[in-house]
Amino acid sequence: MDPEIEDRVTTFGELGLVPELLAAVQDAGYTEPTPIQRDAIPRVLQGRDIIGLAQTGTGKTAAFTLPIVQRLLGGPRRTRVLVLTPTRELAAQVEASFVKYARHAAVSVIPVYGGVPIEPQERALRAGVDVVVATPGRLLDHLERQNVCFDALEFLVLDEADRMLDMGFAPQLNRIVEQLPRYRQTLLFSATMPAEVEALSRKYLRKPVVVQVGRRSEAASTVTHAVYPVPRERKSALLIELLRNDQMDSVLIFTRTKHGADRVVRHLDRAGIAAIALHADKSQSQRTRALESFKSGAARILVATDIAQRGLDVSGISHVINYDVPQQPEDYVHRIGRTGRAAQTGDAFTFMSADEIAMVRTIERMLGQPIPRISVPGYDFGTVAAA
Ligand code: ADP
Ligand code: MG
Repeated sequence: MDPEIEDRVTTFGELGLVPELLAAVQDAGYTEPTPIQRDAIPRVLQGRDIIGLAQTGTGKTAAFTLPIVQRLLGGPRRTRVLVLTPTRELAAQVEASFVKYARHAAVSVIPVYGGVPIEPQERALRAGVDVVVATPGRLLDHLERQNVCFDALEFLVLDEADRMLDMGFAPQLNRIVEQLPRYRQTLLFSATMPAEVEALSRKYLRKPVVVQVGRRSEAASTVTHAVYPVPRERKSALLIELLRNDQMDSVLIFTRTKHGADRVVRHLDRAGIAAIALHADKSQSQRTRALESFKSGAARILVATDIAQRGLDVSGISHVINYDVPQQPEDYVHRIGRTGRAAQTGDAFTFMSADEIAMVRTIERMLGQPIPRISVPGYDFGTVAAA
């Protein structure tokens, strides 16, 4: 981190953004840049490659979108920006950010992802567009059909890089990046920096500046964590019990499997609690609708597999419930990142059956702190086993 930037700058104007962008920031209601924005925006404006590391919910999207839009101002209408994201939902979200921040600028953007017909995307790409926000698989389809030309590309953004690698996109990323101009600015954003992401950055970035906010695996600090020891077969009853609590306005529940998600929705339904499921077996329109009704508050409870885990911005979530203990400790941090966004407070509960104790311990080791246990009479599998 550059100490000069750290000490002096507190407003978006001081970061070097021009009036078109400052107006958009003001429209968005942001009063001051988040730490990652404060550090990244001047670097991107200077033309540097950057690696931006910050936990979920810290405003990484605007950290790259704002300066890129500024750099596009007044330039030719060619495809100059490619943003790669792991999921359709994220692509749609990044696209929405470009639209928002380019309100006072003539910059066009299209999202490109699978699960929807390819022809409208094909037409839009062929008509010419400044910014393409894509998931890797569908973009490769378009490249094969020669629907898009990246000869004039100036910016490549790898958003949620850790997630893309987790999802096995490395070969696709390689095939895409091979087809891009070598002289470009590359920005990589990630919540975590495992060895694979480091390797990726060495391969694709040129003398990157590392912009890091917070410790590497820090859970969002405004979140209250708790573990509920509960026998597996009592989990749905405990969930219903907790959901009857009025303070749970907006609850995101994670299950390990798609069937698990559907089963939880059915259990809740039988108890008269409305909930919707979000997972990869749902069609794209079902997923979009589920997310929209959750965002608008029409649906109070969303039950998801880890498709919704990273990077999705659903503000105002009051609670995250891990119905199953996440298999990867890193996933715990990502999930908890769903609440506590932009300094709201949120609670994160994890249901732990006896066979999941070891996984919870691993998570606690990574967090560097124990998570308090909450014992609910009638549900706890016994304080002895809970350790
Ligand atoms: P990340 O990519 O780091 O997970 P996002 O870019 O999705 O985070 O931003 C998280 C939330 O914070 C969004 O709702 C966004 O609108 C909001 N946000 C971003 N920048 C600011 C800011 N400077 N002030 C207030 N809220 C912000
Ligand atoms: Mg993000």
